Amino acid sequence: RQRLYRELRDKPSVSRDGVPVDLLMNAGLVVDLPQLAESGAAGIGLFRTELQFMVASTFPRAESQEQLYREVLDAARGKPVTFRTIDIGGDKVLPYFKHSTQEENPALGWRAIRLTLDRPGLLRTQIRALLKAAGGRELKLMLPMVTELGEIAQAREIIDREVRHLSRFAHLLPNSLKLGAMIEVPSLLFQLDELMQAVDFVSVGSNDLFQFVMAVDRGNTLMADRFDPLSIPFLRVLKSIADAGRRHQTPVTLCGELAGKPISAMVLIGLGFRSISMSAASIGPVKTMLAELPVAELEALFEDNLSAGANDISMRALLQAFADDH
Ligand code: PEP
Ligand code: MG
Repeated sequence: RQRLYRELRDKPSVSRDGVPVDLLMNAGLVVDLPQLAESGAAGIGLFRTELQFMVASTFPRAESQEQLYREVLDAARGKPVTFRTIDIGGDKVLPYFKHSTQEENPALGWRAIRLTLDRPGLLRTQIRALLKAAGGRELKLMLPMVTELGEIAQAREIIDREVRHLSRFAHLLPNSLKLGAMIEVPSLLFQLDELMQAVDFVSVGSNDLFQFVMAVDRGNTLMADRFDPLSIPFLRVLKSIADAGRRHQTPVTLCGELAGKPISAMVLIGLGFRSISMSAASIGPVKTMLAELPVAELEALFEDNLSAGANDISMRALLQAFADDH
């Protein structure tokens, strides 16, 4: 199998019926970078910048943030990299960053974009480090746990201010700057049209989105197998996102665990996703699946089963049967 994956590595990632799909990898530390070339990933679809903060004993200084981002972009050699602004809080605690309020529901609490908008110094430092590291190159920034569009506007103001600041001091700026939002909070599902117009791209964080749509703690082993992401309601959620992206020509990707399992990656492609981001080790297996996948046939299967008369049962058996047949 390893040999098969290696042979596939430098081949284009297209389905059996010729549909191209970008297979990207998730990363967060310097040690992940060699895998970009080894896996043949088309880029880094999710760079988790909070990992640098989690392995440190104090807040990483601006210089070391900038240095990391520069190393990442150098290693990518022109392949696209999407940097997610720090996603701390919730289950990602920094021992050196304490606050006095004991949160009863940290997953629903002061985390990610909520926290960094309340502590704009943190966000400003990070944005400045990213802008400097990406001077003369493309910079893609992504905001985690967005709940309302106002948060995107606030972040954009901070970014614009940093851009103005750096250009005043004659710094080399990125030659292209794209801002995206993660879809992880269900409130965004009811404003997809507005969202798609407010950003340059979106990325579904299916781990958190599933947790919040189903009201089930993503880390709770008592319920780990109780609800299925391949259930009709959740598949409809995913399809509505892919459809909205297409309507507005806003690029859509997905970077949760779903992207890394061949069966669920197959499903995502059948629902209309043309870009997915996963752990580097999953690229080979997913690319192997893709090479054998007749996308049009799978789309027809969803056409027949996802809307009319559907109920809340899982489509897993049907989809597994489809996978086995092909
Ligand atoms: C997700 O929620 O699916 C995601 C990609 O982000 P994280 O797993 O880091 O919360
Ligand atoms: Mg998440």
